Amino acid sequence: MSASEGTNEPSIRLLLVVAVALVDEDNRILIAQRPEGKNLAGLWEFPGGKLEAGERPEVALIRELEEELGIKTKEACLAPLTFASHGYDDFHLLMPLYICRRWEGVPQSREGQALKWVRAGALRDYPMPPADLPLIAPLVDLLGA
Ligand code: C5P
Repeated sequence: MSASEGTNEPSIRLLLVVAVALVDEDNRILIAQRPEGKNLAGLWEFPGGKLEAGERPEVALIRELEEELGIKTKEACLAPLTFASHGYDDFHLLMPLYICRRWEGVPQSREGQALKWVRAGALRDYPMPPADLPLIAPLVDLLGA
C-alpha cells in the first residue's frame, strides 16, 4: 500500500485557475500575452488567474479582472461556458471559462501583458498554453468565426 492510499491526499497537485472571454460589441474576445519571466511567457491566454483558498471562481475572476486589467464586473455578468482540464507534467489544471459582455472601464495592461481583441475564428493564430486550446471550439460555436 502506498503512502497516499486510503487518505484524501491527491497523488498530483491540482491547480484551480479561472478564465474569462471578455466579448466586445463586435464579438471580439480579449486575449493577453503572458509576459517575460512567467511560465509559458509569450503565449496568449484568456484573462484570469488562480483561485485563492476558499474563493469561489466568480469572486476570483472579478478580483483578477480588476488587478490585471483595471475593469470592474459583477457576478450577474459572468456566464459559465465550458471547462478546461489539462494534465501538465507537475500538476493538473482545472480551469472554468466564463463569458462576460458587460464591465466598467477600458481593459488596460496592468501587469506588462500585451492585449489584443480577436475574433473567435482567429484565436488559433495566437499560440496558447495547451490547456487553453480546447476552449476555442466552444467560443467559435457560441460567437461564430
Ligand atoms: O497565470 P499563472 O502563472 O498563475 O497560472 C499558473 C499555471 O497555470 C501556468 O503556469 C500555466 O501552466 C497554467 N495556465 C494555463 N492557461 C492559462 C492560465 C494558466 O495553462 N490560461
